[in-house]
Amino acid sequence: MVRLVLSNHEITDSNSGNMISTCEVSRNLIRKKEEKNLLLSAVLMAGLNYEAEYGDSHDILKALSNEGVEFLLTCEGKVPLSECNGKIICLFFSANWCRPCRGFIPHLVELYDTLRKRGVSLEIVFVSFDREEDGFNEHLKSMPWLAVPFDVNLQRRLIDRYRVDRIPSFIPLCSDDDITVEDLIGCIEDYGANAFPFTRKRHEELKAIDKRKREEAKLEELLAQEGCNFLTSGDDIKVHVSELTDKTIGLYFCAYWSPPCRSFTIQLTDVYNNLNAAKNGHCFEIVLISTDRDLKEFNVNISSMPWLAIPYEDRTRHDLCRIFDIKGIPSLVLFGPDGRVISENGKFMVSSYGADAYPFTESRIGDLEAALRNQGETLPQQVKDIKHEHVLKLDMAKAYVCDSCKKQGKFWAFSCDVCDYDLHPSCVEKLHKD
Ligand SMILES: [Zn+2]
Ligand SMILES: [Zn+2]
Repeated sequence: MVRLVLSNHEITDSNSGNMISTCEVSRNLIRKKEEKNLLLSAVLMAGLNYEAEYGDSHDILKALSNEGVEFLLTCEGKVPLSECNGKIICLFFSANWCRPCRGFIPHLVELYDTLRKRGVSLEIVFVSFDREEDGFNEHLKSMPWLAVPFDVNLQRRLIDRYRVDRIPSFIPLCSDDDITVEDLIGCIEDYGANAFPFTRKRHEELKAIDKRKREEAKLEELLAQEGCNFLTSGDDIKVHVSELTDKTIGLYFCAYWSPPCRSFTIQLTDVYNNLNAAKNGHCFEIVLISTDRDLKEFNVNISSMPWLAIPYEDRTRHDLCRIFDIKGIPSLVLFGPDGRVISENGKFMVSSYGADAYPFTESRIGDLEAALRNQGETLPQQVKDIKHEHVLKLDMAKAYVCDSCKKQGKFWAFSCDVCDYDLHPSCVEKLHKD
């Protein structure tokens, strides 16, 4: 009769002296129903021993094998567990029904492909949060890596063991002592393959690189990333980033789905055409950094613009949003002809002063503001106009329509407190009390 000796997860067949997995044991034993109780206690003990077993990449393989898992899956079929031998294994907990999971997978696919191309021996093993096998299979189709076969009970044990309390969750089983980044999902979304090896130290390094780039990097360095040195335009002309020298450049963060972006695009187009038609030639260029949701939207967006764009598939778009900490769109970051940042507040400059803001330097904006103040000082605090029955007060408005000439106005206005009535200072006809 077979006698089983438990040693951690391994069970020795004392007849042959060979180590056999619990799975093999189970197959043998189910045939010998009289030994069923012994099997149960073996599995139970293996379960209790998880803590000690999961230290690094290799122990997960041992543990899976002890769980009766003989192979992992890809969307094409079975792969032996030994496929993972010697690789850095990362567990990926995810579910097909979860929108953030589905949104995260393209980031992870990019990371996986890039790291493997770089020769990093990395393997991702998907553990499903799906309750239905159909969902699991559907989800697996979007993944180029491996998966633990669908088994709700096993999934639950792995989820408990790794204390996974949210999805998506990405857990690298590194054997070194470096501590993993707290928000690893966010870090991978931000930095892609550069997040590897997923440690806090690496995250700090990446943030420091971003800080330096934001403060010191020249435009060309920001735009030209490995293999992506070209900008595109609505009519599909390719322009090398080095051709942007000696101009004032605006990086325009914008998406077609956003109404404020669409209205700012109109203002910016005016300024663009205005400045480039002037006698100083083509002095102002814009580069669209699209935050459109897909390529189709991007194409619609750029086709309405007379300037350049970073190609939609270029990761630089994403990097620039992160480096300049873009929290809202539209946003315009301006660079001088020397390639250095002039202002991250280009949207305010353009919407306030239009083409007059050129060359968008602090001193230019200071001059414009001073001129406005001076103009205000020459105007009376209130006037009585022959066209209107109430007293009109001096006011500062971002935009208004003059009720006399019906043209747009900006900044100084004479406005009525009682009704909606505004006049350009130049459109006031004073009532003379003679
Ligand atoms: Zn007017
Ligand atoms: Zn009035």
